[in-house]
Parts: sequence; C-alpha cells; structure tokens
Amino acid sequence: MSQFDVDLFVIGGGSGGVRAARIAAGYGARVMLAEEYRVGGTCVIRGCVPKKLMVYASRFGDEFHEAAGFGWNVGSPSFDWATLIRNKDKEIDRLEGIYRTNLEKAGVEIIDSRAVLEDAHTVHVLKTGARIRARTILVAVGAHPTLEPVIPGGELGITSNEVFHLETLPKRILIIGGGYIAVEFAGVFAGLGSEVTLLHRGDKLLRGFDDDIRDALAQAYAQRGVNLALGKTVTRLDKTADGIAATLSDGSVLPVDQVLVATGRRPNTAGLGLEQAGITVDEVGAIPVDSYSQTLIPSVYAVGDVTNRANLTPIAIREGHAFADTVFGNKPTIVDHDLIPTAVFSTPEIGVIGCGEAAARAIYGDIDVYKTAFRPMKATLSGGTDRVLMKLIIDKATDKVVGVHIMGHDAGEMIQLAGIAVTMGATKADFDRTVAVHPTAAEELVTMRTPVVVKHPVAVG
Ligand code: NDP
Repeated sequence: MSQFDVDLFVIGGGSGGVRAARIAAGYGARVMLAEEYRVGGTCVIRGCVPKKLMVYASRFGDEFHEAAGFGWNVGSPSFDWATLIRNKDKEIDRLEGIYRTNLEKAGVEIIDSRAVLEDAHTVHVLKTGARIRARTILVAVGAHPTLEPVIPGGELGITSNEVFHLETLPKRILIIGGGYIAVEFAGVFAGLGSEVTLLHRGDKLLRGFDDDIRDALAQAYAQRGVNLALGKTVTRLDKTADGIAATLSDGSVLPVDQVLVATGRRPNTAGLGLEQAGITVDEVGAIPVDSYSQTLIPSVYAVGDVTNRANLTPIAIREGHAFADTVFGNKPTIVDHDLIPTAVFSTPEIGVIGCGEAAARAIYGDIDVYKTAFRPMKATLSGGTDRVLMKLIIDKATDKVVGVHIMGHDAGEMIQLAGIAVTMGATKADFDRTVAVHPTAAEELVTMRTPVVVKHPVAVG
C-alpha cells in the first residue's frame, strides 16, 4: 500500500488551487482540496466577479443621463442598493456551485475546512482532526486585504472583503489607497451617487502605470466629482454621532459614513504550519518558489497570490495549470510573468500591456511614442465628458510595440485583443498594415502615423 493517502492535497479553493486540482485529477491523480471559506476564492467570492457586477451597476447612471441626447426620455431613474447586493449574491452563489460541481466532476474530494501543514507531506484538517499524508502539497491560499497603516481608530475602516456586503449605499465614503482596488471602488461609488473622497499618499494614482494614463484618470475622476486628496494620509478615525470623522495629515477633518481601506494585500501564510514543513516566508509573508512554483521543500508547491508574483486571477490560474502539467502531466511548464495584459475597471476603464513611456525609455533607450486623445463619437450627442487616450510605445531598434495603453470605454476588451498582437511580437508596421474598423475608437490603434515624442538619448561628456 502507498505510504500516501492522496497524490495531491491542495490547500485553498481559489482560482489557482481549483485549476491545479482539476487538471491534476484529469491526469489521474487522487486529489483532495481543502477550503475554509467558500470555493471560488477571492476572484469569484469577493473580488473580480462581484466587483465587475458593481462596476456595471455604477455605469447605468451615465447611460440614463446620456440617452437624452439621443432622444430618449428615461424619466428620473433611481437606484436600489439592496437589489444590487441581493442579485450579486445570487450570482456568486451560482458560480460557487459551478466551481464545486466542476471539482467533483473531475473527481476532486472537497473538504470544507481550514487545513494546515504539519510536515512536508502531512496536512492537518482542522474541522475533522484528520491527518492526510500527501505525496505533493499545493499551497494556494491567496492573500487578504490589510487595514494598514495602523492608526488610532483604524478598525472603523472596512476592506474590500466587507465592501460587498454593506447594508446601505454610503452617502459619503473615504477610500484610502491609489491602487487597483481604491481606484475601481472610487468609480463604483461615484457612479452610484456617493460622495467620494479618494485619498492617496502619493501625488499620482496607480503607481507603475504610464504617467499620461495616471494624469488622464485623475482628470477624469475630478471631472466626475471624485474629491481627490493626493499627497495626504489619514492620521486617525473617530466614531461620531452620524458616521466617522477622518483626520487627515493636513489637519483637516473629513466627515464620512464609511472608510474603505485599499492599501494592499498580504499573503495568507500566518498559522499555516509552513515552518513545520521547513518553509520560510519572505518579508511580506509570501512563499518563495522557483519558476515551476516549487518551494525549497520538494514535495510542497505554491501558486497564486500567496507567492506574491503577479497577483492577478489569470496568472494564478496559469500557475496552477502549469504546476499540474509539470508534476502530474509529465510536461514541465513555466509561466511567463512578462507581458501581462491588465485592466483597471475604473470609469473610464484602463487597459495596458507592456511598458509605460518612462520604463520603456529606461529599458530600450530609443523609443517612439504615438499618442492620441479624443472625444469618443458617442459623446458628440450624449454630452459625455470622458475622453479616450491611446498610447503606443515602440522600440525603435526593432520596431516592436512594447507598450499599449488605453483609457476609455471598453479598454479592458480592447487590450485583450491588442495583447495578442503584442505577445506575438507585433511591430508598428504590423499595426500600420492592419485595416481600421470604422467607426470605432479602437481604429485609432492602427491609424496613428506620427510619433508625438521622439527623444534620442543624449550623449553626455
Ligand atoms: P495595490 O498594490 O494595487 O495598491 C495599494 C495602494 O495602497 C497603493 O496606491 C499604495 O501606494 C497604497 N499603500 C500601500 N501601503 C500604504 C500605506 N501604508 N499607507 C498609505 N497607502 C499605502 O493594492 P490593491 O489593494 O489595490 O490591490 C491588490 C492587488 O489586487 C493588486 O496588486 C492587483 O494585482 C490585484 N487587483 C487586480 C485587479 C484587476 O486586475 N482589475 C482589481 C483589484 C485588485 P503606493 O503606490 O505609494 O505604494
């Protein structure tokens, strides 16, 4: 008899763990998966999916308003938060069911419990007390939002975990942070009619993105009535009779109903027994792995946000799939973490692949930048104020498109397709010989002919 109860024990039923479990089971492995909360993980339960549903909800206000220019009279629309939350929850329940069914169909045994490591081959299932011996263990436990920085009254704030279950739509909300989550929820709450203050310690939102995109988003948000508090921090939160008083670093006090803290996420490694298995986490609590997602302990692998590589759902899925191919499918597979297309579901939306202008200049030296900013056709009758920004960055030595940056309606959809071309190594000449689809906004991507900025590195000395 085998010395192991299972071939694979997966801890964590999110995007990475579920994919790994299903693929490994498909290769004939005996697989168990433990999940302490809900199958589907952050993306499905309290991340990408419910967020996108809320983004959709938040954009109807614009549509109703803009319809008038096209002759529609939609009366005076009203919004009911409880209906949105109820319908969103129903959809999340449905998706969780599908995730469970798919795991079961693949032959994966689901254990609804927290599970921790006891050694390099043993997992302790806390609910039942069972100790499962596994040939391979995959840690795919994800990350959690933090309430950082720690300030007096900080516990009055909520994170992106709680924001999906608020009982009422806050009239006034302070959102702290300048990353994906802060920016996306600022758009959601502004669209739904809340008075939004978006406070960020830096002088621009979305660090790491192209500066033109960062500036354009700040401008669009300001135009949409978001109160941008840049270069500031919150020093304390106090409960008041009608909400929360947030004291800011400039000494001002902002009265609000909710404070959403979106200052980043930390890997869920505390209390997981990693040290018992011989694994040491890094300074942010992430599990170090090699390019096959293997830890220093050969029987233990880790994928997804717990490894803090590129913390995005499609990457966790790829890492989980590659792990299963490598370990159970006899197909060693490395996930390429370069050139990841990504979207920020702000309103207006942002889609990006590759380098921003400053980064490209540092990497490639001699680059061409093509840029266009325009009012989308729909706005001519609707009166909408959002503009579209598109930017291509070209490495002059190879003519390769090394960056595409889009802000505007459906930028996420556009970047997925532009991403294929860029991933294939498309050149500017390839973009140029692509026939435009007219009239679209995306046609601008293939009709930009004159570089707006041509800078050559200046020789010093
Ligand atoms: P991000 O890392 O994107 O942003 C964190 C923000 O908080 C930054 O603006 C950062 O500022 C600020 N911050 C960090 N620490 C402090 C502090 N101590 N005090 C004040 N401000 C602070 O994290 P998010 O929480 O927004 O998102 C987590 C991850 O989830 C993202 O990295 C992304 O990968 C993923 N995600 C992806 C989405 C998508 O694909 N659409 C949507 C939502 C999340 P600074 O820039 O100065 O460091």
